[in-house]
Amino acid sequence: MSVRSGDLTEKWYEYVYRDRGESVRRFVEEYPDERSLSVSCERFGHDYQFVRPLLADPDDALRAGKAALGRFLADDDREMQDVYLRVTDLPGESEVALADLRASHLNSLHAVEGVVAEVGDLRPKVVRAGFRCAKCEDVTRHVAQPGREFRSHEKCPRCNSVGYLSFAPDASEYVDAQEVRLRDPAGSDTVPVLLEHDLTGSVSDGDEMRIVGIPRANRADGTTVADLWVESVSMECLTDSNR
Ligand SMILES: [Zn+2]
Repeated sequence: MSVRSGDLTEKWYEYVYRDRGESVRRFVEEYPDERSLSVSCERFGHDYQFVRPLLADPDDALRAGKAALGRFLADDDREMQDVYLRVTDLPGESEVALADLRASHLNSLHAVEGVVAEVGDLRPKVVRAGFRCAKCEDVTRHVAQPGREFRSHEKCPRCNSVGYLSFAPDASEYVDAQEVRLRDPAGSDTVPVLLEHDLTGSVSDGDEMRIVGIPRANRADGTTVADLWVESVSMECLTDSNR
C-alpha cells in the first residue's frame, strides 16, 4: 500500500512541526547556516501509515518532511531539500546487524551498530549545485545533491537551451563529509558509512556507534555488482554514553 507524498507532507507537519512551531520557525530562519534538525521517531506514535513508508522508502518520506518545512518559509523562492532531518529512535524492526546487510536492505531505513575501524579525512561535499549556462551566461539552477551521485541538468531553465549547462563550483554550496568504516561488533565485516555536515569530525577509532542510515549500492561502470555503503541519517556515539 502506498501513501501519497502529499499525505506524508501533511503528517510531517502535524506530527513533527506543528506543536514546536516556534523552534522550527527559528530553524528555517537560520537556514542555510543551520541545516540539521533532530526528529525522534517517537513523535510519529503508532501511525503505521507514516512509519511504514518512512522505513520502506525513506527518500520519499524525507523529501516530504523537507517539503513540509516550506510552510515556515516567508517566501518560497527556495526549497529546503538540502537540510538534514536527523531521524532517531527507530522502531526495533528496523535494526539489522552490519554483517547481515543484504540487497533487500538497500534504500530503506535501518539502524546499525558498529565499532569505528577507520576514519577518513574531512572533504567538502556539494549539497547545492549551481550550473552556469554558456549561452545566456546565467547561473540559474541550484539543485539539491543528496547522497553521492552528482545530479546534473541538461536544460537551462532561463533560456531553454539544452546542453550548455556546466557545473559552477564557485556558485555552489558545500558541507563537510567524512567516510568512516564501521566494523560489526561480532565479526570482521566492515561497511563504509558516509557522515555529512554536523556528524563529521567527532568520531575516533574504537568508538562504538549507532547509526540510523540508508544502505546504498555504489555501482562502478561496466559491472552489475555493486559496493554497499551506508548514507547516514543520524548518529549516536555509544562509547560516550557508557563512560
Ligand atoms: Zn541559458
